[in-house]
Amino acid sequence: MTISRRDFLAVAGLLGVGGMATGCGEWFTDEDAIGGERVIIVGAGAAGMATAHLLAQRGVDFQMLEAASTHGGRIKRTNNFVDFPIPLGGEWLHVEEATLARIVNDDTVEITQAMAAYDPDDLAGVVEDGVVAYRRAGSWPDLKFVGATWLDFFDEYIVPGIADRMVFDTQILRIEHGGDEVVLTDANNTVWVADRIVFTAPMKVLQDGDIEFEPGLPASHLDALERADIWTGMKVFIEFTEQFWPVWLTAKLDRGGQHLWYDASHGQDPDAARVLGLFTVGDMSAPYQAVDPGDELRDLVLAELDPLFDGIPSQTYVQHISQNWANEPFVRAAYLADYADSDISQDLGKNIGPRVFMAGCSYTREYDWSSVHTAVRSARDCVDEMYR
Ligand SMILES: Cc1cc2nc3c(=O)[nH]c(=O)nc-3n(C[C@H](O)[C@H](O)[C@H](O)COP(=O)(O)OP(=O)(O)OC[C@H]3O[C@@H](n4cnc5c(N)ncnc54)[C@H](O)[C@@H]3O)c2cc1C
Repeated sequence: MTISRRDFLAVAGLLGVGGMATGCGEWFTDEDAIGGERVIIVGAGAAGMATAHLLAQRGVDFQMLEAASTHGGRIKRTNNFVDFPIPLGGEWLHVEEATLARIVNDDTVEITQAMAAYDPDDLAGVVEDGVVAYRRAGSWPDLKFVGATWLDFFDEYIVPGIADRMVFDTQILRIEHGGDEVVLTDANNTVWVADRIVFTAPMKVLQDGDIEFEPGLPASHLDALERADIWTGMKVFIEFTEQFWPVWLTAKLDRGGQHLWYDASHGQDPDAARVLGLFTVGDMSAPYQAVDPGDELRDLVLAELDPLFDGIPSQTYVQHISQNWANEPFVRAAYLADYADSDISQDLGKNIGPRVFMAGCSYTREYDWSSVHTAVRSARDCVDEMYR
């Protein structure tokens, strides 16, 4: 890579020539970029990818720096469990289907992704005195991806236009934004220089102080981080030879978290594998996170299910997988609690000086948070603010 004079002066000026930097990050220059401005996006989850997509549509020169070795963040997926992809984080579209077209933001593109809705007349199970009582499920607005996950949707409609701008294994540890440019230093001491940045790394990473800002974070951001109750989270998927569970089972939600057994095969091909899902965030995750994810976790979930279904779970168990979000090195939590103070995501969505912009599911500028659609909406708001 050739370093421009402007890059060299910025790096030399801030670190001192011969200082700590071991090199400069390579910039995949876009000669046609509007106004020659370069934007770095920190993080390649839903918000980072949506930001990149919108910048690409506007002809802005950008690059994404991602700490992990792949993109997706909390919409991680596996194709190695059963005969359909399994969403290990974000699973449902919680709002109307037209949201998918808004993410793509291009009327010439036809969205062919199939989505499965829920029938209010389906049965849901509630455990009362150790027995499952069945009731009409009622209306759930959620839509489930069929034969796909949120990540597959991004891979099909968003990633092809931005893939060559993603740089992986690049964990940003320091952001200097007091000068005419923003200088970022990663864990390998490589230095990256941009005119402006969009910060999308998760709030747990900010709360834990992984990233040093110079000048430091404003008081309003620090206060919001201090007050933020961030839920931990875990998902478990269990394959059985037959389906013994209703579409939803024992949904529990309170200020401490959420616990839900659900039909993870809902909407998939009728011949597809039968998979029961467990979604749990907050305190209710603790028992599952405390055990070994192999046989101990299997025994724990079967001990919970067997009394409810006459021992059928143990007789029909095939295999399971789990995702403990506390152990995901660059995320380390599920999301900002549903019951968090409503101004936290608003405060964290504010710019930090003229060059650092925020996008992400906890930086939404509004009264809702912790979902893929709010992460994407914050990206749209962020890009609008940058180029209004
Ligand atoms: C268990 C679970 C279930 C969920 N279910 C749903 C659901 O059904 N529907 C829904 O809409 N939402 C759901 N969500 C929430 C949804 O997944 C998230 O809100 C959304 O994916 C967050 O996107 P993001 O881009 O803001 O953050 P992330 O996806 O976390 O992306 C941030 C990226 O920044 C990277 N990063 C971190 N530190 C650094 C650094 N220092 N330098 C560079 N990169 C860094 C991370 O590796 C990550 O890739 C769920 C989440 C969880 C955990």
